[in-house]
Amino acid sequence: MLFILFSYRGYSSSVVTLKEQDGVVLLDSNYFESIDNQGHIIPNKTLFFFTPNETSFFKYRFTLENKTKEPINRVVVSYNYTIDEFRMYFNYSQQGLDTLIFTNTIPLKDRYVHHKQPVIPITLEPGEKVDVEIWLRNESAYQYTFALYSYSEFFTHFMLENMYFGIFYGIIVFVLLFSLFYVAYFRDQVVLFYFLFTLGQIFHMMFRDGTGLYIISEHPEWAEILKSLSRATFSVFLLFYTKAFLGVSNQSKLGKIINALIIIRTVYVIIMLMDYTNITFHMEMFIILFCTLISIRSYFRTGRDAIFMSLGLVVLSITYFVYYCSVLFIPTWGKVGFFLFYYGVAFESVLMTLALIERFKQIQIEAMSRTETNTMLEQKVEERTEELNLFLYSASHDIRGPLKSIEGICKLAKVDDTIPKEQLLDMILKKVASLENYVKDLNAVTKIKSNTNQIKLIDFERIHQQITEQFSTLVKSQNVSVTLHCHSSISNYYFDEFSYRIIYQNVLENAIKYADKEKNNSFLHVTIKPSMDDVTIVFEDNGIGIPDNILPKIFLMFYRGNENSREDTGLGLYIVKLIVEKWKGSIKVDSKLKVGTTFTIVLPNKRPNRLG
Ligand code: ADP
Repeated sequence: MLFILFSYRGYSSSVVTLKEQDGVVLLDSNYFESIDNQGHIIPNKTLFFFTPNETSFFKYRFTLENKTKEPINRVVVSYNYTIDEFRMYFNYSQQGLDTLIFTNTIPLKDRYVHHKQPVIPITLEPGEKVDVEIWLRNESAYQYTFALYSYSEFFTHFMLENMYFGIFYGIIVFVLLFSLFYVAYFRDQVVLFYFLFTLGQIFHMMFRDGTGLYIISEHPEWAEILKSLSRATFSVFLLFYTKAFLGVSNQSKLGKIINALIIIRTVYVIIMLMDYTNITFHMEMFIILFCTLISIRSYFRTGRDAIFMSLGLVVLSITYFVYYCSVLFIPTWGKVGFFLFYYGVAFESVLMTLALIERFKQIQIEAMSRTETNTMLEQKVEERTEELNLFLYSASHDIRGPLKSIEGICKLAKVDDTIPKEQLLDMILKKVASLENYVKDLNAVTKIKSNTNQIKLIDFERIHQQITEQFSTLVKSQNVSVTLHCHSSISNYYFDEFSYRIIYQNVLENAIKYADKEKNNSFLHVTIKPSMDDVTIVFEDNGIGIPDNILPKIFLMFYRGNENSREDTGLGLYIVKLIVEKWKGSIKVDSKLKVGTTFTIVLPNKRPNRLG
């Protein structure tokens, strides 16, 4: 069967022969004669139909003839759904009548074929010949294409198209619902902008492909304005969202540029509500590229979750660029550009959703660690308050003890002058010395807690000598032999000297103080093993040892485990532990009653290049 479209009465520029099996025949204006309003024939050698004067009709003529013996049913489809007015006049030669078949401003529901694009059914009986005149009036469209479809081709083509749209809208509506859930759950400004941006994208795409017409089926004349608005919404929300996602502040230079772009785009759409220029395309391309570049920049600067955001925008940029070129410069890319952009948007939406998920993972982790830190801090405050109360109670109690004794001695001296003055003064001096000791220890606690460190190269032997000399009287009275064995192969051990001395003094003093007087070979062996990373100090004595039930308590504040240690402060080992913990070292004690005690202390090496 042959379906022939040919030159007729001299006003068609060339003959086109259409074969039945073609299924779809593109009606491009190369084959048509165009006629202006005065009836002048205008040479029109372009692929697309154009309306040079947007306010009045432009006409195109051609003839159809069915030379077959079968009736032919076809539909003429306009690829442009936003033509202001579109008419087709069929001049049936048998009847000699002009018949208006279609006007595009007819609401969707009243159309012959309910389709978003103008679709005109044509029937040609065998041998029938018809002159067709297309009347076009449009202010916005820059080019129009028409095609003749067989019914089956029409059905397949638009079914497939609807399916592609369906998949696209399915994805993007899912993304929209997902972001809506996020908005409801997190009440976060960034997601709100993402939700609005997605909504803007749906709005934009619907009025780009005409599906939006079904929503306003009673008002096809709104299509142009809505299309214009949808494109502005898309750009403005993209800017808002990018700004919010990347945390760009209004005060920053970039923030000001983004705000300026938002204002320019908004003002433009208000002024150019019916935009018949290509400026919108340039603006869209610019805004997408701009957002992509600042996201990539943010990714390289801060890393974090901007990776998916950047990827999403790169996909959007590439696909929009192909679409942009297909519309403005390379019409042959049209088909690819059209759907590529759709799936670019879908893919971009999915990547942007991943960006949101990543962002919220981050926020939740931060929130969780914040609550954890808060609980930890609260606990610490509680512990510290308890510690402080105990500290104040014990300190005042322990200071009062010697003071009361001094008061007692003074009263005794007043009433009893038989006691030698020397003896009384000695007693007072002893009490004063113990008070001084106490205050010294309290002072050390405060100093350690106040974090004033002075990292120095530690001279183990010198410090050992100085401290043993300090306790020489005690060493003598307790008859203890003190030895030092220092593995000094590594000499560059650094630590806070004050802390080191306090530890050393306290452990050494205890070992001497708690020497077993029943033994005549009392000793304290100190072994120091420094390494690149730390130092291990071992204090091994053969003193009275610590009973098992006391051992777990010796590091507690004000704990005195020995009846002989009444005069002591009970702060020594507490201070030692405090320092060891502060420097993230370790302390271990092994003790056996009547056999002896070994303290093993490990302290990190704070070599200057390792500080921090
Ligand atoms: P104190 O001021 O009473 O010495 P410390 O905190 O220094 O307080 O020590 C707590 C307790 O641990 C001591 O009272 C003592 O019973 C026990 N202790 C510490 N070191 C030794 C040791 N080398 N030998 C035996 N007992 C010790």
